[in-house]
Amino acid sequence: MTESTYRIQGATGEWEVVIGLEVHAQVTSQAKLFSGAATAFGAEPNTQVSLVDAAMPGMLPVPNRECIRQAVRTGMAIKAQINKWSRFDRKNYFYADLPQGYQISQLYHPLVGEGEIEISLDDKNPDAETKKIGIERIHVEQDAGKLMHDQHPTRSYVDLNRSGVALMEIVSKPDMRSPAEAGAYLSKLRTILRYVGSCDGNMDQGSMRADVNVSVRKPGEPFGTRTETKNVNSVRFVMAVVEHEANRQVDVLEAGGKVVQETRLYDPDRNETRSMRSKEDAHDYRYFPDPDLLPLELDDAFLEECRQSLPELPDAKRRRYEKDLGLSAYNAATLTADADTARWFEALLAEGARIQKKSEGEVAKASANWLLSELYGALNRLGKSLEDSPVGPEEGAELLALIADGTISGTIAKQVFEIMLETGDSAPKIVEEKGLKQTSDTGAIEAAVAKVLADNGDKVEQYKAGKEALFGFFVGQTMKAMQGKANPQVVNELIRKALS
Ligand code: ADP
Ligand code: MG
Repeated sequence: MTESTYRIQGATGEWEVVIGLEVHAQVTSQAKLFSGAATAFGAEPNTQVSLVDAAMPGMLPVPNRECIRQAVRTGMAIKAQINKWSRFDRKNYFYADLPQGYQISQLYHPLVGEGEIEISLDDKNPDAETKKIGIERIHVEQDAGKLMHDQHPTRSYVDLNRSGVALMEIVSKPDMRSPAEAGAYLSKLRTILRYVGSCDGNMDQGSMRADVNVSVRKPGEPFGTRTETKNVNSVRFVMAVVEHEANRQVDVLEAGGKVVQETRLYDPDRNETRSMRSKEDAHDYRYFPDPDLLPLELDDAFLEECRQSLPELPDAKRRRYEKDLGLSAYNAATLTADADTARWFEALLAEGARIQKKSEGEVAKASANWLLSELYGALNRLGKSLEDSPVGPEEGAELLALIADGTISGTIAKQVFEIMLETGDSAPKIVEEKGLKQTSDTGAIEAAVAKVLADNGDKVEQYKAGKEALFGFFVGQTMKAMQGKANPQVVNELIRKALS
């Protein structure tokens, strides 16, 4: 069964789930959408609030060019139509974290129109099963402040640091059909945002959160009534919400009830969603064009600059790694799933190609394998991420070059790497100081082989009688006698010669 045929079995037959996500992504920018106040995460409450963000009378919003630029670049990265003319609207409602009494958003004329994101449903072979998820629009809007209910027994406080921070609301079409598709979509979107650099994608810090729209229907029937679960802040939780909410709706419908269109909240501790309020329609918010702001008009030079500034995107990079560098589909997908990993790998590869005599493909394969097994293994053990890796790409490339030119064996390289992690010393220095150079000195190796064969006369007999698997034993013993420093090829040759 493939993920695209996810079904829920009810007494009256099979149900299909329909999912659309609205993702709020905080735009990476020093300043807010309409003011110069800072946006740093974790600052003291109310230290990053301008008079505009506090909605002092008479203050006027001024659009921040960088925020618009980031949203346009994001739109381009998802192959979307960019609207050269767009406009800001006021969405009116009262809440204590919203001093203006309205949020400046874009309802009627969003900055970015229809686009698409391709997801993959097979991690091991990303091109084997793909699906395009339509994007309805991306609009730009302000974030609200934050209420703090845990500071005082009888009072609530308001922190306006987030008030006015720029968000992109990225609205998908109702194109997803399983928890796995919803999870893959959100991960892919986050990957793209990080590549583009328009959002840091840190869901645990709230810079990306998803409203999860879910409905169920019998396959082939029109869409059912949906519920919207707000502010879900991890990929895993999004998948759990879909799973839970779809099953809840099936239960309601199977019992003869109706799904109520409403806003729900997810409780990760109990893994359930709860009704929050009945859903408002757009007209409840009395949207109207914001009279304080002119329409946004983008010229061709601006759009061209946005386009030029886009990096190579994850799918293109993954395919290039496979085709041009000859990496396995799995390695290419793993290395490109995250912009930082790809950057690290490319730095490792560039330095390797510079200092080694091997072809780019050979360097690439060795670099990919080392990064994904040795380096990742070590970082996991140390509880560190790639950014704070004690060994950088240049140092890694030096180590790999020593293996490539035969100075050290793969086994010794593991030891050298451990010492690099501990001391911060370079691989050539460690190899030199500890005398770890691999030897192809046939005299020394011949002597070791002779001793191993003499000490294991019984095994030599068995080998000669046909037990060929013992060859590996002789190699292992010889390597051990040479403290891992013998060139394995030479060892193999000399044992073969001695036994013939
Ligand atoms: P609203 O503005 O009221 O939130 P939209 O039409 O903009 O409604 O849709 C919001 C989100 O809900 C979109 O991501 C869309 O894909 C999704 N959606 C719409 N209809 C359904 C449905 N029947 N089932 C699941 N998701 C839906
Ligand atoms: Mg909505």
